[in-house]
Amino acid sequence: MFYIGCHLSSSRGFLAMGETAVSIGANTFQFFTRNPRGGKAKAIDTNDVQAFLAYTAAHQLGTLVAHAPYTINPCSKDAHTREFARMTLADDLKRMNYLPGNLYNFHPGSHTGQGTETGIRQIADTLNAILKPEHRTTVLLETMAGKGTEVGGSFEELREILDRVELTEKMGVCLDTCHVSDGGYDIAADPDGVLTEFDRVIGLERLKAVHVNDSLNPVGAHKDRHARIGEGYLGAEAFSRIVTHPALQDLPMVLETPNDLPGYAREIALLRQMHGE
Ligand code: FE
Ligand code: FE
Ligand code: ZN
Repeated sequence: MFYIGCHLSSSRGFLAMGETAVSIGANTFQFFTRNPRGGKAKAIDTNDVQAFLAYTAAHQLGTLVAHAPYTINPCSKDAHTREFARMTLADDLKRMNYLPGNLYNFHPGSHTGQGTETGIRQIADTLNAILKPEHRTTVLLETMAGKGTEVGGSFEELREILDRVELTEKMGVCLDTCHVSDGGYDIAADPDGVLTEFDRVIGLERLKAVHVNDSLNPVGAHKDRHARIGEGYLGAEAFSRIVTHPALQDLPMVLETPNDLPGYAREIALLRQMHGE
């Protein structure tokens, strides 16, 4: 099954996101668990969740991707910032129990001058403090562009984090095509080679979701500027290889391209066509 969708605004609740997804031809979607710049989350509306779960079943939506606010940093040199990240991640995971069986993706963090090894240790410490056996959510580390002091710009760094997490069966990876290209992996020219390398270092069984983005910058640029499909350095041809790649079938694929809803509808239709639907 081909699961394709995009990032949607959660401001009108879950049912509204489900209906929007279906209206633009999506059968999965991504949403922020709270304001992307951080801050307090809205209380979960259980009526909205019930209505959404019924809608999801009726419209055969696939696994969803929740995204943590991108400002949290579990490996900041500032202890208060680390503590805030820990509280936010723990609270989000509690809230995710209302939608069991889905994915929760976060940016591993930026070490802000402490060095990669310290960053990796602090990220793993955070995960070890918040993951609970009763959670029914898979937590994903996102592959990063390696901008500034970001941790997770290489598969090796993600592997080192995973190796230090005790409840490792709760963990997976989300591959962002813009980020890996910016990180120096030429996924446009050689998707097979990049996925073989992912398998060698991390293991493809850990790969749970894909962010489908073109990049405004060439391979290895470490910039993290997303482009619309076919309007960046990866190019449309790369995406026809990516969406049809045997290693990526059945994974939720989520667009995070600079688009309004009609733009997302067009990209979803394009990717469906590339997939052979
Ligand atoms: Fe992200
Ligand atoms: Fe992403
Ligand atoms: Zn990005």
